[in-house]
Amino acid sequence: MPRGRTPRQPARTGRQDRVARTPVRQVKSKTSAARGGGKPAGAPIPTQASVLHRKSKPKVGAASAYNSLAPDRIAEILKRLDQLYPEVTCALTHSSAWELLVATILSAQSTDVNVNRVTPELFRKYPTVEAFAALAPEQLEPDVRSTGFFRNKSKSVVGAAKKIVADFGGQVPDDMAKLLTLPGVARKTANVVLGTWFKKADGLVVDTHVHRISRRLELTTKDDPQKIEQDLMKVIPREKWILFSHQIIWHGRKLCIARKPKCVDCLLENLCHAADKTWSTVEMHKNAKA
Ligand code: SF4
Repeated sequence: MPRGRTPRQPARTGRQDRVARTPVRQVKSKTSAARGGGKPAGAPIPTQASVLHRKSKPKVGAASAYNSLAPDRIAEILKRLDQLYPEVTCALTHSSAWELLVATILSAQSTDVNVNRVTPELFRKYPTVEAFAALAPEQLEPDVRSTGFFRNKSKSVVGAAKKIVADFGGQVPDDMAKLLTLPGVARKTANVVLGTWFKKADGLVVDTHVHRISRRLELTTKDDPQKIEQDLMKVIPREKWILFSHQIIWHGRKLCIARKPKCVDCLLENLCHAADKTWSTVEMHKNAKA
């Protein structure tokens, strides 16, 4: 068991936010009994539980001591991600910025494995951006059908190719504003291309994994990908933006999966207060912090 601690069983609800109860046992006050008084008859006899309760009563203001965005907590999360995923990168197979752009467009609502099954033959058939630009979207549809949403994806890929040939000399631009002018390209796709191919940290990739795990780790409370990206940009050091995105995406695939995350194997576990944890060694979760 990691870190030599014996985890408590998770609650049925997935929440582990209560302090373990101490068995209640009545304790008689010897001094009071010896003095034959001190407390009026009928006064409640203090119990171990009530004593413990008094001792552990939160101090005023202590409940706000927990800060999910505290720099030392963020640093610890980053350190453990480095231990878990030291040299991860994008899992989409590619050998140029154009191939990465196409693969990223195709990966929407699909898996990288699925896309990687399609792209080798696709890039053999159409080896250049000019070859894609010469197509009508309908011609591409059969080749990308298995990635889902193939009509829209075909339109985006062919439209992007035409614009890159017409406006950018056949080269994928290494600039966020220019990338965003391409059909089918939003900040997520642009950040993948800029970070993975051009090594430029203009933002963070917010895909479904980054969305879910940033919320579980309380790095954001937002639901909108652009707002999540803004929140992450405030707390993650810029030099970590590219790697952090890849690490979180890998974490989402391997351990912090959407349904039933594998918390028992997670190195971040004792830093995590996610409501849907499946296992916990954390004695007190944020709602119970004293
Ligand atoms: S402890 Fe569980 S919910 Fe939290 S980051 Fe790890 S796998 Fe995800």
